[in-house]
Amino acid sequence: MNTRLWLIPGVTLLVIILLLLVRRPVGKELHDFHNEGHVFGTYYSIRYLADRDLEPEILQAFQAFDASLSMFNPASVISAVNQNRDTLTNAYFEQMFHEAMQVSRLSHGAFDITVAPLVNLWGFGFKHREDVTDAKVDSARALIGYQRVRLENHHVLKDDPRIMLDASAVAKGQACDVIAALLHEQGVEHYLVDIGGEVVTRGERSPGEPWRIGITRPEDDPDGTNDRLQAIVSVRNICMATSGNYRNFYYEGHQRRSHTIDPRTGYPVRHSLLSATVVASSCMRADALATASMVLGVDSAMLLMKEADAKGYFIVAEGDSLRVVTTKNWDLTTQNASN
Ligand code: ADP
Ligand code: MG
Repeated sequence: MNTRLWLIPGVTLLVIILLLLVRRPVGKELHDFHNEGHVFGTYYSIRYLADRDLEPEILQAFQAFDASLSMFNPASVISAVNQNRDTLTNAYFEQMFHEAMQVSRLSHGAFDITVAPLVNLWGFGFKHREDVTDAKVDSARALIGYQRVRLENHHVLKDDPRIMLDASAVAKGQACDVIAALLHEQGVEHYLVDIGGEVVTRGERSPGEPWRIGITRPEDDPDGTNDRLQAIVSVRNICMATSGNYRNFYYEGHQRRSHTIDPRTGYPVRHSLLSATVVASSCMRADALATASMVLGVDSAMLLMKEADAKGYFIVAEGDSLRVVTTKNWDLTTQNASN
């Protein structure tokens, strides 16, 4: 009995030592950081609460992402695939590919990353629109079809070597997910990642204050200088993307955003849906679904949201005014902007 009692101080000491050993370092002060700049032909703006500036890690992640999915980087994986150079696909590429294929199936081909030859055609069309002929559209359209590419053993197999991929409609959203994961791994609990209008948020802007995200009012804006808002949503944890047809080549001047093309007709879409904001389980998915919505128009987009288990906020032109249509499950605190 006595010997057992003697054990108590020893065990207590051991517990104290163990507690000291596993105790997390304290005293690290948290600060608000804001990293911003240009990436993937657009802007980025990243706000977070952390004990140090994570910009070096963020820039490194951008570089790795660019080396996978940028069509403007001749050394990227996607460029190699497009130029039929033998290359192994990597994790970013494969993630993009699988998600793109899923949204293609869900949207019955309205969303299609093999749209690249048409994008190129209409891209030139911006400057020399008279050069785009029905015959050229037909021959580009003959190369389109998400069912004509597949991934096997880290290789892209194409039915026709002229088939090319364009990840622009998913990449910004995916990059938001990548940065959000990076911040999460670093223990960051409050952040807002915005890459060209695609957004991932977590936690709060400040204690008790949700993040606030503006939805742009879709007005003719070829220069991208419009800062009028349609609405402001207040959110905590969200993945949200917006696609719009208000900064496109129908208007002369500097082309700020490329166009949305209907892969099934080969022509840029023109209908009353001006802007599609989608909330989904990942930003990559929200981004693809927003583009798909722009191709489909508001009625089919509403059905797509249901199929994809996503939420949609659509702005439709009605005569000279704008009408907002939301899915039934749109439960975000949304204030109309008064500007
Ligand atoms: P934004 O966020 O700039 O509005 P999106 O996410 O809608 O842009 O992506 C538009 C880009 O997607 C175009 O520039 C083009 O490269 C590509 N794209 C156009 N039409 C389609 C389509 N039907 N399916 C997949 N990608 C498309
Ligand atoms: Mg998109």
